[in-house]
Amino acid sequence: MDCIFCKIVAGEIPATKIYEDENILAFLDIAPVNPGHTLVIPKPHYANFMELPEEESAVIIRTIKKLAAGVIKGTGAEGFNLTLNNGTVAGQVVGHVHWHIVPRFPDDGRVLWPGQVYQEGEAAAIAEKIKQQL
Ligand code: 5GP
Ligand code: ZN
Repeated sequence: MDCIFCKIVAGEIPATKIYEDENILAFLDIAPVNPGHTLVIPKPHYANFMELPEEESAVIIRTIKKLAAGVIKGTGAEGFNLTLNNGTVAGQVVGHVHWHIVPRFPDDGRVLWPGQVYQEGEAAAIAEKIKQQL
């Protein structure tokens, strides 16, 4: 399979690894938002979050919590962004599900996206549509 993260798992291309167990690998992003920016992946190939089986999701989230604590302590960050870009439209470039742990520092200038304002009735309408799908 032509997946760059599978190649990292297989050791076919190098990565700066910070954690590894039987099912999970964490390594530094090659183009960090801030130093210590870490990617966490399941070793098996799943294209996105919706394909990741529930049991594996639960385990990886527990592991991410430990890793985030390590990233914070190891970088001296004051906080972190935990993000998962799901789908091309959401900015997912690598088609192997992964979480970003981005350490954050005071005045690091990394600006998050702006919020919008709902029009009258819009929030209730979209909430209803979502609830009907659950
Ligand atoms: P996405 O936009 O898919 O959520 O994020 C993909 C991330 O993978 C990007 O932040 C990018 O810098 C990182 N990345 C892409 N190719 C490589 C690589 O070969 N090695 C490492 N360590 N990170 C990569
Ligand atoms: Zn893969």
